[in-house]
Amino acid sequence: MIRVGVLGAAGRMGRLVCQAVAEHPDLALVAGINPSLGGEHLGLMIGRPDVNVQISDGLDTLLQAETEVAVDFTEPEAVMDNVRWAIEHAMHIVVGTTGVGPGELAEIERLLAEEGNESNVVVAPNFAIGAVLLQRFAEQAARFFPAAEIVELHHEGKLDAPSGTAMATAERMAKARRQEWSGPTGESVEGVRGGDVQGIRVHSVRLPGLVAHQEVIFGGLGQTLTIRHDSSQRVSFMPGVIMAVKAVISRPGLTVGLEPLLDLDTDERA
Ligand code: NAP
Repeated sequence: MIRVGVLGAAGRMGRLVCQAVAEHPDLALVAGINPSLGGEHLGLMIGRPDVNVQISDGLDTLLQAETEVAVDFTEPEAVMDNVRWAIEHAMHIVVGTTGVGPGELAEIERLLAEEGNESNVVVAPNFAIGAVLLQRFAEQAARFFPAAEIVELHHEGKLDAPSGTAMATAERMAKARRQEWSGPTGESVEGVRGGDVQGIRVHSVRLPGLVAHQEVIFGGLGQTLTIRHDSSQRVSFMPGVIMAVKAVISRPGLTVGLEPLLDLDTDERA
């Protein structure tokens, strides 16, 4: 049994992670941290009264509960303090919170080396396996279809635009394609052609009712190819989170993104 503690346990993602961990036969939910709800019964909150864990407001609870893997779904202002704490305390950590950019990743690598690589870290900006596959397929298609645009669609509460996932998709496609293509730029309404990310137009839609969706449309001679992924419920992230929780224990150092965990280059038939 892997002993798991969840940071941001009472949040939208945190609750689902707690449920998924509690339901998994190889994982044990041993701690939940969420400062504003300290003292609440976590088991009752996730519909599992048999899980006898109280929400705590302090990270030391993770140590008392002998947590092996911490999972962070908190907020951009909190996440790096939590990661630093985990590394200092030789605890593995899986991070889903937004806001861990190149500078933060470099700091994590440095801290891991300073602390003797006693803990491992997985940082994944998107835990939906379908979204990770879309990026991979789009990168492959970009080699043959340089003309492409991305439409990303999210709930109205999403603060950033374009999404980090769309940015990463565009950057990978731009690197993979063999020739540039930027298409017409004329606009009678400002912004109507979307934003330019390394020569690839990205359009951001924000509406109630949406969760997280991405479509890449490739155009070629007499043909189009559309690759689309839809996360219609937040639970779509859970298989990826569980995969990372299990994998982080045996992946030394820092792993960025879910793709390295998917073994996409391994031929299962071999
Ligand atoms: P949310 O509902 O606002 O939940 C965040 C929770 O973290 C809240 O309960 C908050 O408590 C708590 N919190 C804040 N600071 C904390 C700290 N220092 N220690 C422990 N808990 C703390 O947000 P969400 O929708 O669950 O999203 C959480 C993060 O995950 C966001 O950054 C989001 O962009 C990201 N996300 C990532 C993925 C992915 O695939 N990687 C998918 C979905 C979302 P209070 O409300 O009391 O402040």
